[in-house]
Amino acid sequence: MFSSLINQLRTIDCRIQLLTVFVVGHTDCGGVIAGVDAARRPDGGIINGRVVTVPDLPAGADAALNRWLEPVTQTAIFLRPNTPNYDTAISAVTQENVRRQCEFLSNTGAIMRAWQARQQVTLHGRIFDIASGVFQEWTWRRDPPPP
Ligand SMILES: [Zn+2]
Repeated sequence: MFSSLINQLRTIDCRIQLLTVFVVGHTDCGGVIAGVDAARRPDGGIINGRVVTVPDLPAGADAALNRWLEPVTQTAIFLRPNTPNYDTAISAVTQENVRRQCEFLSNTGAIMRAWQARQQVTLHGRIFDIASGVFQEWTWRRDPPPP
């Protein structure tokens, strides 16, 4: 789903003058839970030198599910030393995943061209709390660079 958004941003009309882009993560994300669980296995989520989120798939690290989950599992592995508490790890990986997607978006051609053209494009990262139905307080924001 994220790649289709990136494809749309690659072809977006850069004459847009004002645009707010939201990257929204969510609580209770199965992908984040799988990544955090993998990072907490005795093997630390690494099998034969490769990141493996779901170890019992026949294709191993090359299974489509493992390739799809690799970035979030890498994030969970990276944050593992600083997140001894499970719930803290889930929250930290969810936020970091959104932050990284926002950083990635800020480096796309469409966003960089818009900023170079002094267009007011702002990126926001938010976390939607599924249980309460509202956004969490945590937020990430990047405004156009100063002139
Ligand atoms: Zn999810």
